[in-house]
Amino acid sequence: TEELMRKSDKLSVVGQLAAGVAHEIRNPLTAIKGFVQLIRDTRGAKPEYFNIMLSELDRIELIINEFLVLAKPQAVNFQEKNLVTLLQSIIALVETQAILNNIQIVLLLSESDIPLIDCEENQLKQVFINILKNSIEAMPSGGVIHITVDHLAATGQVRVRVVDEGQGIPEERLSKLGEPFYTTKEKGTGLGLMISYKIISEHKGKMIVRSRVNEGTTVDVYLPTHTS
Ligand code: ADP
Ligand code: MG
Repeated sequence: TEELMRKSDKLSVVGQLAAGVAHEIRNPLTAIKGFVQLIRDTRGAKPEYFNIMLSELDRIELIINEFLVLAKPQAVNFQEKNLVTLLQSIIALVETQAILNNIQIVLLLSESDIPLIDCEENQLKQVFINILKNSIEAMPSGGVIHITVDHLAATGQVRVRVVDEGQGIPEERLSKLGEPFYTTKEKGTGLGLMISYKIISEHKGKMIVRSRVNEGTTVDVYLPTHTS
């Protein structure tokens, strides 16, 4: 059966606090990394231990950096933007990774004149990068990712629909999406969707994930059109 999930503010509490802490952790982390590198390269040191330490430090750094995306939203600077152009630039960005995985990304527009939206461009890019990366990572043996953009005039929204042919998400796991650190990947952080839900809700939008195991996943992002 098809599962429907709706979420917008599972995360506002975690957000601000975590971002503050993350920022404070980053500087000492950089210093520690520097010294570990220094010791590793000293005569007589066993580099393998230091390499383990460095890769663990890299992992902490990755998590910190993802968290820091949460720090930005207070100073949002919304601008009138063309969502289609934004999507094209995101596709160009992830295209190499897609091709390496035998994946084709197809963009379809319901009409040639999709209305502009008000957004913080970099934040929205972050959302679509997260969504597309998840789709790519869910399709280890390749396939097609369809992105369609529709203007929903009746509700004053634009809808971006990303459909993949990946492994899908079991019904009982759907409610976990957007929870911090929920990941099924060895190298995942489980922060991508959490950040995405937060950004979309700050844009007064909505993100809905539906999925069928072994068939694929559909992510719908609804954003209000520009209001003058
Ligand atoms: P991460 O990608 O670091 O694991 P995310 O927050 O981006 O963290 O995603 C959380 C989890 O949701 C993933 O580990 C995966 O299990 C599941 N998921 C998200 N998108 C998809 C998708 N398109 N297909 C299958 N599973 C997905
Ligand atoms: Mg992800």
